[in-house]
Amino acid sequence: MNNSITKEDILQYKWLARENGYKALEHEIIFKDLCCGCGSCEAVCPDGVIKVNEYPELVGKCTDCGYCLMQCPRSYLSRDEAEVKLFGEIAEEPLGHIVKKIGVKAKRLQGVQDGGFVTAALKYALKNGIIDGAIVSGADGKNKWLPVAKLVTSEREIGKTSGTRYSNSPNLAALKEAKEKGLKNLAVVGLPCQIEAVRKLENYPIEDVDLAGRIKFTISIFCSSNFTYDGLMEGLVQKKYKVKIPTIDKMDIKGKNVLVFVGKKRVEIPLAEAYEVKREGCKVCTDFTGRLADFAAGSVGSPDGYTAVLARNKKASKLLGDMIKADLFTTVELKEEKPGLEIGRILQNRKEKNAINYTKKRVKNELPLPFKSLKF
Ligand SMILES: Cc1cc2nc3c(=O)[nH]c(=O)nc-3n(C[C@H](O)[C@H](O)[C@H](O)COP(=O)(O)OP(=O)(O)OC[C@H]3O[C@@H](n4cnc5c(N)ncnc54)[C@H](O)[C@@H]3O)c2cc1C
Ligand code: SF4
Ligand code: SF4
Ligand code: SF4
Repeated sequence: MNNSITKEDILQYKWLARENGYKALEHEIIFKDLCCGCGSCEAVCPDGVIKVNEYPELVGKCTDCGYCLMQCPRSYLSRDEAEVKLFGEIAEEPLGHIVKKIGVKAKRLQGVQDGGFVTAALKYALKNGIIDGAIVSGADGKNKWLPVAKLVTSEREIGKTSGTRYSNSPNLAALKEAKEKGLKNLAVVGLPCQIEAVRKLENYPIEDVDLAGRIKFTISIFCSSNFTYDGLMEGLVQKKYKVKIPTIDKMDIKGKNVLVFVGKKRVEIPLAEAYEVKREGCKVCTDFTGRLADFAAGSVGSPDGYTAVLARNKKASKLLGDMIKADLFTTVELKEEKPGLEIGRILQNRKEKNAINYTKKRVKNELPLPFKSLKF
């Protein structure tokens, strides 16, 4: 593996992190446009002085423990090493390891994004004592389109977090509350970068942090890109396309457009315009489906109204089978050819190629290299 993490790599970061505390996180990650907004730094800070919204901010006195940089998935992490540790080998399949794949539509659920797999899986796991809580993205109390990290511990709370919000939700930040409440069996829902953050906590643990052992399974949602809240929601949706944010019922990305639904009205915003306000830290991202998760779920590859679900290991496959037996879903077989899973492979390859080209440009402009999971 040409991108494995060496002891020297870790020592270099350790020295920086201990010497400079939060300033090291700023200089190595945030100011270098590498932050993916996962929220992990907020969760691991023992002094509770980091708050992540779109980006991390220091909100109190830092005591230079260095945990934030050491546990950030974008300081050092080899996705290849993590994949081998999880699955024994690196999958040749561009969508990652798959033990079972199926399209599902949840029965009796409303307000979900596609087929409602994520919401249904969390409710089932909670009801059956598999988890005692879940780390998800909820909506800000005053603005349902402003995502926030959320710990949910009841089926009712899970139901309120369904649907997609297309800007940063630092989901992992909610791990802090879960630890404070003594929860020990959590599911984590997140974008592929947030699942990388989970594996960073697992593979490079700091004893005091004590978060990784509480995570029982992970669900990654597919992701081509994320967008800044100000750029997408305030700038494009509200200012340019004249849709008042509080009136929006649903948003979706289909083909070459961002779709905004208000009642029966549908506004189309070209995806190319949204890409102008893409999050900087997304430009180095190579993972479309979440290769390091137990489950991956997205709309691509499935018929309208269904979630395409990939169970990546036996544990996930069994849980999926149990949910199907419990009659939670209407199911369809996922087609391989276009517009089936082949579209996912095309999007995966495109994402990887774009990230590699962007990284080469960074090297040419003498900008620092991103974390060590990118081969080019
Ligand atoms: C930024 C973003 C980009 C995406 N891009 C694609 C794509 O290109 N192709 C594709 O097929 N699918 C994409 N998805 C995933 C898709 O929108 C659905 O989440 C997925 O199909 C699961 O649908 P569901 O009905 O099972 O989810 P639901 O049951 O409705 O549950 C949705 C879950 O998503 C979580 N969530 C919502 N917003 C966020 C957020 N901003 N950050 C982290 N978690 C969040 C919630 O916690 C909830 O648990 C994207 C999602 C996001 C957030
Ligand atoms: S105290 Fe918090 S902000 Fe300061 S180095 Fe430690 S984790 Fe980072
Ligand atoms: S990538 Fe995650 S851990 Fe790293 S600085 Fe950003 S929010 Fe914090
Ligand atoms: S593109 Fe990558 S870095 Fe950006 S939100 Fe999606 S998974 Fe995270």
